[in-house]
Amino acid sequence: MAERFWPKVAVGPDNDCWEWTACKDREGYGFIRSGGQRDPMIRAHRASWEMHFGKIPDGMLVIHQCDNPSCVNPNHLAVGTVVYSVTLPLITESTSDMSQTSSDGSRGVMSRREARAA
Ligand SMILES: [Zn+2]
Repeated sequence: MAERFWPKVAVGPDNDCWEWTACKDREGYGFIRSGGQRDPMIRAHRASWEMHFGKIPDGMLVIHQCDNPSCVNPNHLAVGTVVYSVTLPLITESTSDMSQTSSDGSRGVMSRREARAA
């Protein structure tokens, strides 16, 4: 796999995106044949992950931290699920709760503003 993989990648410095230069789908994800001519095509960034870190756990996605679908730099890839983004609003809620019950100083500012308005 690696022998056919790397000639198709524009490898750069560790922190840069490594662009896939062979065939890509409409969304920009690179593709490579997983084995011989009869084997299915797999996404290049998933192939890159498996070459560096081993098998991707069932049901997990390989996510680009750099938002570049054609990038196959293992430093930019992370395994995750789509559930992550759903938890974000909950974090925002708890943060606003904390600011309400925060130090006396902030409450003092509030009451001063109220006094001015009155
Ligand atoms: Zn990248």
